[in-house]
Amino acid sequence: MKFSSSFFPTQKEVPVDATIPSHILMLRAGLIRPLAAGIYSHLPIGQRVMLKVMQIIREEMNAIGGQELFLPALNPLELWQETGRVDDFGDIMFHVKNRPMVLAPTHEEVICSIAKNFLRSYRDMPQIWYQIQTKFRNEPRPRSGVLRGRQFVMKDAYSMDTSWEGLDESYDKHAEAYKKIFARCGLKFFIVGASSGAMGGSGSQEFMVESPSGEDTCAVCSNCGYAANVEVAESNIPPLPRSDNNPELEDIHTPNVRTIDELVEFLNVPAEKLAKSLVYMQNNETPILVLMVGNDVLNETKLASALGGNIRPMHPDEIEPLTGAHSGSLGPVGLKNFKIIADNRLKDANGLVSGANKDDYHIGNIDIKRDVNLDGYYDLREVKEGEACVECGNQLRVVNAIEIGHIFKLGTKYAEDLKAYFLNEKGDEQPIIMGSYGIGVERIIASYIEQNHDENGIIWNKTIAPFHIHLIGLNMKNEMVREASENVYQLLIDNGYEVIFDDRDDVSAGVKFKDADLLGMPLHIIAGEKNLRDGNVETKVRGTGERSVVAIEDILNKIEKLDY
Ligand code: ATP
Ligand code: MG
Repeated sequence: MKFSSSFFPTQKEVPVDATIPSHILMLRAGLIRPLAAGIYSHLPIGQRVMLKVMQIIREEMNAIGGQELFLPALNPLELWQETGRVDDFGDIMFHVKNRPMVLAPTHEEVICSIAKNFLRSYRDMPQIWYQIQTKFRNEPRPRSGVLRGRQFVMKDAYSMDTSWEGLDESYDKHAEAYKKIFARCGLKFFIVGASSGAMGGSGSQEFMVESPSGEDTCAVCSNCGYAANVEVAESNIPPLPRSDNNPELEDIHTPNVRTIDELVEFLNVPAEKLAKSLVYMQNNETPILVLMVGNDVLNETKLASALGGNIRPMHPDEIEPLTGAHSGSLGPVGLKNFKIIADNRLKDANGLVSGANKDDYHIGNIDIKRDVNLDGYYDLREVKEGEACVECGNQLRVVNAIEIGHIFKLGTKYAEDLKAYFLNEKGDEQPIIMGSYGIGVERIIASYIEQNHDENGIIWNKTIAPFHIHLIGLNMKNEMVREASENVYQLLIDNGYEVIFDDRDDVSAGVKFKDADLLGMPLHIIAGEKNLRDGNVETKVRGTGERSVVAIEDILNKIEKLDY
């Protein structure tokens, strides 16, 4: 492809709205252009990468027996009402104004509606169906470029099985395919156990790329490889010790003391002796009080998984009428009409201090067993950096990460809601057992750039690079340079290389070099007057900066041997 006649709109300036490297570089290198918040056009250079990534995905999905199909993005609202997911998605789902239609954020419903008409016997399964298609989600704050778009391309796959063992097999196949896909794309990734959230189902894992730009937080162990989203991660942290000395409750006057830190200071006791009380509402009707140790952080996803239903923090104006006090003075002792739960670390603990449900008062010597009408203990705390790994005891790191793929064992929820039943070997009706498996195509690309760039631009690998080679003709007004570089271009193309040829005659060498580094093709070949006079060109490996001067007649040989 010749630069002079192509649409490669590179730009020097850092775009104003972009803050993370992949977003900045995708804009500057002309891969994408924004149309509106969270909505991007893929320009020719970007589309080439999209197509390469999609091809890798196709090959690996086909290799596990996946069959590609293509489903409509425009769906009848009614279909989504049958599974109750219009409410689950809420504002995330785009609704069409002049018809009862929605833009699909995912495709379990459509798949199930097809499956139920055709997978009627156990003999019709297992099946794996997948598509690479556009999804629509009204993400509240799309600010990380294509990492979180309102319109984005997803590879979504669905497995239909007749038994739970069959589901396990389909799930494992996808896990293996995903590892191959991400490895082939050149991503360094790890796999975490995830919360299944609103999707329901029995098992789920996320494929993660460590990056400061990631919106997920994961605990990872560099020693044994344990990794989990903080929404489910655990650490080896001992419960509080129970003391034999168990005095009676005492009221403590604590004027203007609200936070755990203030209480530590005021009472001069360690934070571990304090039970922090947090208040939530379940399904807008059941008040919940959650007890946590001192400064432990409650993870709201863990809370939602523990309790089920819709969980939200209690509004400030709801607290006083229900408890008799304001936040900062709340506690579990004598609290009526609340469901009270505690983090596992507080198991049977005593000698605790918590709020008295009376402003400016706390209660001391609380024994959870004796004094609290508890509904149960759950793992609710968020793992902190440096805590011991549950598997090996090594220190955990807590890192930001980008979710690039997600595999779910859905089970029978969708089949039951949409009445997708088949006849099993005994002739009995049984719901189809489903799995669903997603990969964000743009997220692969943005994550790759997050992991592979320097201050000058992107550093592509051979596999997903828009072009393999960036050929730079230095002074194209010079007849000899023009002719020689045209010849090299033709030679490379004839030998199967994808080449971008900077044949512009109206920009300086400096601009060409800057563009080449920004665009980031893995191998650069520079054709300049000085070298050409001796029949040579210069090669530069973008990743390492390694340069060499090569005879044109040797160039094919040399490229074969170069590690780029
Ligand atoms: P997130 O938690 O980041 O919002 P999700 O868990 O809702 O993502 P899934 O429903 O599991 O996403 O979708 C499967 C895959 O689609 C994700 O692993 C991710 O790679 C991609 N994806 C999801 N939402 C977006 C988005 N808004 N923009 C780009 N890719 C996305
Ligand atoms: Mg997900």
